[in-house]
Amino acid sequence: MLARCLTPRFMISPETAGVFFFNRRWNGNSTIFALSSGHGKCGVAVIRISGSQAIDALKQMTNITKLEPRKAFLRNICDPDTREVIDKGLCLWFPGPNSFTGEDSVEFQIHGGSAVIAAVSAALSKLKFAHALPGEFTRRAFYNNKLDLTEIEGLADLIHAETELQRKQAYLQVDGSLSKLYNKWRKTLLQSIAHVEAYIDFSEDDNIEADIMDKCNNVLKVLNQEIKRHLSDGRKGEILREGVRTVILGEPNVGKSSLLNYLVQREAAIVTPIPGTTRDIVELNLNIFDYPVILADTAGLRKETTDIVEIEGIHRAKNYTKGADFVILLANSVSYLRSKKKYDEFIIDYVERLGLNDLLLNNGKVMDHCIVVMNKIDLLEPQERDSLLKDDRTIFISCAREEGLQKFSKRVAIHLKNLCGNPCRENPTVSQTRHRIHLTNCSEHIDNYFDLIKSEERDIVLAAQEIRNAMRELGLITGYVSVEQILDVIFKDFCIGK
Ligand code: GDP
Repeated sequence: MLARCLTPRFMISPETAGVFFFNRRWNGNSTIFALSSGHGKCGVAVIRISGSQAIDALKQMTNITKLEPRKAFLRNICDPDTREVIDKGLCLWFPGPNSFTGEDSVEFQIHGGSAVIAAVSAALSKLKFAHALPGEFTRRAFYNNKLDLTEIEGLADLIHAETELQRKQAYLQVDGSLSKLYNKWRKTLLQSIAHVEAYIDFSEDDNIEADIMDKCNNVLKVLNQEIKRHLSDGRKGEILREGVRTVILGEPNVGKSSLLNYLVQREAAIVTPIPGTTRDIVELNLNIFDYPVILADTAGLRKETTDIVEIEGIHRAKNYTKGADFVILLANSVSYLRSKKKYDEFIIDYVERLGLNDLLLNNGKVMDHCIVVMNKIDLLEPQERDSLLKDDRTIFISCAREEGLQKFSKRVAIHLKNLCGNPCRENPTVSQTRHRIHLTNCSEHIDNYFDLIKSEERDIVLAAQEIRNAMRELGLITGYVSVEQILDVIFKDFCIGK
């Protein structure tokens, strides 16, 4: 099977992640608990308890006398009031700060029936533990400096990853790949501020290295280039995280639904010889060669229809194409051959006939995010087919006879790889729009810094503020923003008056 269906993609709201976690307000004196494994009947369910009183769960619900951290004990788990045994399961003790949340934590691994889970949960409520809010364990981990925002976002992505490459990217992020990079850049900015502040305060006393500003400017220039390079990655990480929005376009009856059904390996879209059957967009989430793909079949594009539903379908297809990462333009090989036109001329005429010039043509050529596929080669005479198949500017297929589809799949795989890249630790990519916005702002502040120090008025105090702003933008990505640290660095980095 070529592709595996996925569930619709989970999206994290950038606003929620950025603003909510930014101020590390800590109000968590309570001890919380929740079912950490999935809902529904299962072999083993994990109930996690976190907070200063977590140990009471072990003391009052089991007969463990000697607590040993991070060791599993098989024990009866009882109701704290009645002492009735609810279940037998594994009990684990993670004293803070060496736990996921950084707090004292306990885990019960019990049988996964709903009545067992309900009874253990009721018992924990009797100990006055509160039921955890969504994400509360992770939130506590953040407050306790166990994870930063990028790691938390990576964790959410890891839980929702549906393809191997999404898992890889998310895991690297949880493991701190982005966090390390952005913290390294933040540190560079922090040192630069320290240098500029020192220059402002002490340059006139001649107590400071003469070329301190040159050194600082060189460092900032290199950093800004690095940030800009990081941003100009074709949105690979974001596309991999969100799924490659792929659309199949073409005239009515060219075989779009047949191609979609081949990719999905089931009759997801209706195939008929009646033109204009597909009216709305049929969207499916697929795993193709480990890349997440959101594949859309669209209404056949033609200008001559007066059917208002079809007109709306065509309008929607064009709108969808505006946001597509990848376009599969399907044409009819019989029409191509019988048109006697040269390949480029035929394609340009076809794109124009479909009303897609603005969306697919650039300088008279089909844009890079589009591949052209010609269907129905089974309807050609053998010698006609032989002459066509020599041409590798396009891919000739027959959905009806399943011919040429291997070659088509390989071409799709190459495109997906170019769009999503291959996540690696050494060169992590921007994975969220939220990060891109802050990184762009950060880079703009560094640009502003250079404009200010170069201008005739040369306001170094204002320029220093731009570096502070740049650093704040990076802090907003990871969740670390503090002014105190700048002062620390000033006095640690310099021997003034030496
Ligand atoms: P759509 O309108 O572009 O979605 O096209 P469909 O997939 O609904 O196909 C339209 C008609 O063309 C149907 O009767 C299909 O069976 C037929 N068809 C699709 N692919 C091929 C092909 O490769 N060869 C032939 N001969 N017929 C095809």
